[in-house]
Amino acid sequence: MPELTQIEDARRLVLSRVSAGQAEDVPLSEARGRTLAEDVRSEERVPGFDNSAMDGYAVQSADLAGASAPSPVELPIVDESRAGIPASRGPASGESVAISTGAMVPEGADAVVRIEDTERSGDRVSIAVEAEPGDNLRRAGDDIELGDVVLRAGSRVEAAELGIAASVGRPALSCARRPRVSVLATGDELRRPDEELPPGGVRNSNAFTLAALVADAGGEVIATDVIRDERGTTRDQLAEPLRGEITVICGGVSVGPHDHVRPALAELGVEQVFWGVALRPGKPTFFGVAPTGGLVFGLPGNPVSAMVTFTLFVRPAIRAMLGSPDPSRRTSAILDAGASGQPARTHAVRCGLRLADDGWHATPTGDQSSHVLSSMLGADALAILAPGAGTLAAGERVELELLPR
Ligand code: AMP
Ligand code: MG
Repeated sequence: MPELTQIEDARRLVLSRVSAGQAEDVPLSEARGRTLAEDVRSEERVPGFDNSAMDGYAVQSADLAGASAPSPVELPIVDESRAGIPASRGPASGESVAISTGAMVPEGADAVVRIEDTERSGDRVSIAVEAEPGDNLRRAGDDIELGDVVLRAGSRVEAAELGIAASVGRPALSCARRPRVSVLATGDELRRPDEELPPGGVRNSNAFTLAALVADAGGEVIATDVIRDERGTTRDQLAEPLRGEITVICGGVSVGPHDHVRPALAELGVEQVFWGVALRPGKPTFFGVAPTGGLVFGLPGNPVSAMVTFTLFVRPAIRAMLGSPDPSRRTSAILDAGASGQPARTHAVRCGLRLADDGWHATPTGDQSSHVLSSMLGADALAILAPGAGTLAAGERVELELLPR
């Protein structure tokens, strides 16, 4: 293996080969979790009209001067404004219009009196309080004005974004097209969860973790195949996926006699950008570019290595293609248990986080070997221990990279 690439350099190299993806219109009902490709400018005001914040009576506030419980003011109710059914006339001086929450304020009214401060008998209402102009009114455009940019390109569409889009009359949003990702697992030992395990068989867990991580990042998994450890079949099975946008291969990328991924990629014309990262877990990670420009990742097969290297190198590529680079995920926390650095590689230690009075604390999730997938359960962050960091004791501050959740 050539000289190892530092993780920050590796990430930069990956991002330097990403080209922005395209956009497509997505109906609101399908847009949750997608990434916006446009700034959304409102062509409507929200609220669209002055309306009542309360159930009560729309009045001219001057008519209520001096009103109190012992000496209420009595007004005739000349009409009603209901949600969606405005009154046909407003209150003239000395009149009132019954009004519901959200209903249009009738012409002439400058305040609404809460129903709780009134007593109705027939078509008259007795009002026991004074009112100021503007009481219990919501003004047109309070929330959103004409021309306001209400949503920004690059943001993720979640509940509030969907609600805003609907509020301003947008039935569809222009979203970044999801990068299409082939996920290929290599290994003669691999078996599905429902298959019987022969001696030496291993469950193909990476097919599931990696597909889930692709979806979490905003990509679309278009293939999940298994490739046997044979040079010819490896090359033949990789040919088609390599024409796509992103190919993620796991296993078979190290230096063993049955690791065929790199030679097969070379035969297929894939340019190697780096192979070997100064990272534990994840040293044999490969990154290259296919003849058609597609990104090709060879991740180590060990289940933790595959997840960690996906998160550090593949996820940023998917986010960049979506036009939504992750905000900085670096922070720091107090270690609650010792952790050891590696002499020549960055050690990414899976940690759970908890918030205490003195800030965030990180606790390693047990055995940090790259085959111990249970160390990913409850892992909120990777403690990033620089090469040669030595042993950090409990109570020391450690740099973290937050895992997406
Ligand atoms: P490799 O990177 O191919 O040398 O594999 C390293 C280790 O990871 C071996 O123990 C493999 O059995 C295991 N491994 C490889 N691929 C997978 C996979 N898809 N799911 C679970 N374990 C795997
Ligand atoms: Mg293998």
